[in-house]
Amino acid sequence: MSKRFTIITYGCQMNRYDSETITGYLTAEGYEPGDDPEGADLILLNTCSIRDRAEQKVFSQLGRLRKLKKKNPNLKIGVCGCFATREGERIAKRNGDVDLIFGTQNISKLPEMLRGIEAGRVCDTETVEPDFSELAPIRRSCGPSAYVSIARGCDNFCSFCVVPYTRGPEWSKPSALIVEEIEAAVREGFREIHLLGQNVNSYGKKTEGEPTFGGLLRRLDEAQGLERIRFMTSNPQDCGEDMIGAMAECKKVCEHLHLPVQSGSDEVLRRMERGYTAEEYLAKMALYRERVPGGAITSDIIVGFPGETDADFEDTLRVLKESRYDNIYLFKYSPRPGTPADGMAGQVADEAKDERFRAVQQLQREISEELHRGLEGSVVEVMVEGPLREKAGNSPGGGESGGGLLQISAPRRYMGRSRANHRVHFHFEGPPPQIGEMVEVEVLRGSVSNLGGVALPQGAVLEERAT
Ligand code: SF4
Repeated sequence: MSKRFTIITYGCQMNRYDSETITGYLTAEGYEPGDDPEGADLILLNTCSIRDRAEQKVFSQLGRLRKLKKKNPNLKIGVCGCFATREGERIAKRNGDVDLIFGTQNISKLPEMLRGIEAGRVCDTETVEPDFSELAPIRRSCGPSAYVSIARGCDNFCSFCVVPYTRGPEWSKPSALIVEEIEAAVREGFREIHLLGQNVNSYGKKTEGEPTFGGLLRRLDEAQGLERIRFMTSNPQDCGEDMIGAMAECKKVCEHLHLPVQSGSDEVLRRMERGYTAEEYLAKMALYRERVPGGAITSDIIVGFPGETDADFEDTLRVLKESRYDNIYLFKYSPRPGTPADGMAGQVADEAKDERFRAVQQLQREISEELHRGLEGSVVEVMVEGPLREKAGNSPGGGESGGGLLQISAPRRYMGRSRANHRVHFHFEGPPPQIGEMVEVEVLRGSVSNLGGVALPQGAVLEERAT
């Protein structure tokens, strides 16, 4: 009987992609995936150390798994991912029950590590060049978008970030392998790919013979059967004509740019070692808006970075007002051990962080709602992600701010993403649409976090456009 495994994944898309790769290696070794830790022979925690909370969750989860192992002494427990790379020894010391510890760079060694744990604990967290010699055996979770990592690691060393220490220096995957991976995903039925990298737009910068990021987008735009290309995360330092020009010209590249600003204060940006000023950042956004009219921009913002004064924070609010982001990921600064910012003077009190967090959140809610309301009456192309699971009582015209335009029963309500990455809730008449299918939706209502509307009958927009 084949062995069963469960992977519990924490953190970002890159970790989800790694879990899909680990799943591929395990199934190739004869393991079967399962969701129930109680029935598993191997449980892997794929960890993240970008936020403090994710680390605490791992230790609590290991406590729970210890009880499972008491019931089933044959159960093997593994910890992998960023946190394992950084804290492998601490995990091993605190948790005698852990059989396998490996880092983000060592996934391709999984087959030999699995054989090793039969004889005792295996720990491999060495930072090595990723194995790009062949396509990894990825087992993707069901769509509709396929993650494809194009680069690993980061050379930027922003002063608050652990990534360069946990994922090592930046390595670009050969473009031929990226094309091969995307062609395989398209054959599996994926029509959208999401390119991943810690600093996706510095792709190819230090690899002779490889295209720039803009060049890569142009090459991928030619992939047969592919309809949408997304990517994350771009660093403003490497955002310029090469990338924005490609975004403007390539039909498959979606009209959405995630460009983390982190702070609007030049002094804070300098101490974060981000490599740009607020004005330089705003100029890049202006270029994007000029070249990709109607494109959506989202961002990351950290409040309460060490030394952030009220005046610095006002600068962040100013950039937020000027940028008019569609949405943001907002964080309160939390020190990550081993990073330069951890030891910086002027750590900001929690109360001030809370207050600044609430102020940014409120301002962004107003901007998002205004932008989304501005889309009412327009028609957007939506890739179906599945039926809408939502609290009873919401209308298809409404997001979280309500609605009431139409009362439609849940079975005909679906959700998906527009090209600009808006979450769209919509009513669909007729046989249920397939996951990954493209439908045209008329937007009836925009709210803070989503758009609501009705799918147009097939061909309606084309006919309208033809007249
Ligand atoms: S560019 Fe991103 S991943 Fe790299 S150090 Fe800065 S924040 Fe971390």
